[in-house]
Amino acid sequence: MKEVVIISGKGGAGKTTVSAALNYIAKNNVSADADVEAANLQFLLGLGDEHSKTPFIGMKRAEIDPELCTNCGLCQEACVFNSIIELEDRREVVTSNCEGCTTCTYVCPEQAISMITHQAGDIHHADTLYDKDIFYANLYLGEENTGMLVSKVRVDAKEFAIENNYDWLIVDGPPGTGCPATSAITGCDFVIVVVEASVAGVADFNRTLDLIDNFRLKRAVVINKFDINEKMTTEVHRICDNRMVPVPIIGKIPYSKEVQLALADQVPINKYDPEDEVSLVLDGVWKTLTEIIDVEQMQFHANLM
Ligand code: SF4
Ligand code: SF4
Repeated sequence: MKEVVIISGKGGAGKTTVSAALNYIAKNNVSADADVEAANLQFLLGLGDEHSKTPFIGMKRAEIDPELCTNCGLCQEACVFNSIIELEDRREVVTSNCEGCTTCTYVCPEQAISMITHQAGDIHHADTLYDKDIFYANLYLGEENTGMLVSKVRVDAKEFAIENNYDWLIVDGPPGTGCPATSAITGCDFVIVVVEASVAGVADFNRTLDLIDNFRLKRAVVINKFDINEKMTTEVHRICDNRMVPVPIIGKIPYSKEVQLALADQVPINKYDPEDEVSLVLDGVWKTLTEIIDVEQMQFHANLM
């Protein structure tokens, strides 16, 4: 079983369009949406029956016992995250601001502060409308995405895929280069980076490749809307060619109004219009990926030796 993760340096680059299409095109695959702050792959693939909904327990957060608190204020002074506020007769933790660092518990002379676990979201396992299994998460409003939930979605999906002899797990990862993106790619078999040919799209591109290469992962690039800004497309080529191990560009998606219509209809572009130019490019991306994934693995590690 091979796990392929699709990421982008910034949101709105076309990552979910690519993820939905590849999940639709692939055979014998499980889908996962690890973009837990904006999970929407399930809408593009359509939801069928739900198999399970599991509570996700987030990090512990501070809670002050009002019976023990003498309102001395030491905890508020110590909290560098400004998560504690003063009320008339006591202090109180603003839970959504608490980073769980535990500092306040050490300074409280009354032992009035405890670290409490709480539910931060749910993990869903459901059918898609295309007879495939999908794992996705619902992170509750105000909860911070630390990467723990991203990891949990991947682990659940991966265990299911291995136990049931699937060939592929295709993961829609989060945008950016922070903790969630790191949690989405560590230990996967292949990363596809979707980069939009725009100034904003290319700005974080090198950092995204740095993140992937830091973990020595196999990778390839898909340029989205390559025809809207020739200069930026050339820049993407330049960056890819100049990496210590050059990055293959396995697809160049043209701008197409059909993509917006497919999104509005909540279906993958390859389902909406299989003959659209974008659909044909994405067919090619999947074909190329399946052809190079093992060869790429060998070459990549040979180049790093
Ligand atoms: S340090 Fe303890 S006693 Fe003092 S305000 Fe904070 S919770 Fe209350
Ligand atoms: S655990 Fe840390 S962040 Fe949370 S209230 Fe206490 S000091 Fe502030």
